Amino acid sequence: MIIKTFVEGPIDANNYLIIDEDTNDAVLIDCSDPREEFVKEIKKTGVKLKYILLTHGHFDHILGVDKFKEVFGVDAYISTEDLPQVRTSPEMIKMFTGFSVSGVKTINHFTKDGEEFTFGNSKIKVIATAGHTEGGLCYLIENKLFSGDTLFYQSVGRCDLPGGNLRQIIHSVKDILFKLPDDTEVFPGHGGKTTIGFEKKYNEILNM
Ligand SMILES: [Zn+2]
Repeated sequence: MIIKTFVEGPIDANNYLIIDEDTNDAVLIDCSDPREEFVKEIKKTGVKLKYILLTHGHFDHILGVDKFKEVFGVDAYISTEDLPQVRTSPEMIKMFTGFSVSGVKTINHFTKDGEEFTFGNSKIKVIATAGHTEGGLCYLIENKLFSGDTLFYQSVGRCDLPGGNLRQIIHSVKDILFKLPDDTEVFPGHGGKTTIGFEKKYNEILNM
C-alpha cells in the first residue's frame, strides 16, 4: 500500500490517495479542491481511482467532488447524517472565507459504520465517529486510520459548529478510536500524523 498526501482547499485539508500496489487501484480520502493542478497531480500518479470516501460534509473536505466525478467518473461516499452539511456548505464557505461558490451536487452515495470498500486486493473499513459533525466517519485500512476532523495530533475537531457535539466526540475518541491498537498510525484531516498510543497519552481530550 502506498499513501500520498495532498494538502488542498481553502483550509489546507489533507487529502489522502491510498494505492493498492498490486493493481494500481486507489481510493481518495476527502476531495478538497477542484483546481486543475490537483487533478493533474492525481492523473500523474497513473492510478485507477475507484472511490472518493469523505470523512464528513464540511466544505473544506468536499469542494473537489464535482470536478473529480467529471474527470475521473468516480463516485463520492458520505454518511447520510452529513447531507445537511453538504447542503449548507455554500453558506459555510461564505462565512469562513468570504467567497461565494455553488454547492457540491454529486455527493449521492452513502456509507455507514462497519461497511467495507474493496479496491484491488485491499479493503478499507468505515468507522462512524460522530461529534465534529453528526455523521463523521473514519476509515481504517490495516493499521492505518484516516481520522478526518475527529482526531488530530494532540487535539480533536471543534464541536461548536452546527451538528457538533462535545459529548459525542469524547465517546467517539475515547470509546471507539482509543480501542484500536496503540501502534495504529493516524492520518488526520488537518496537520501532521500521529498514533493511537501517543494520543492516548497526550491528547487534549483526556482533560475533557
Ligand atoms: Zn470539519
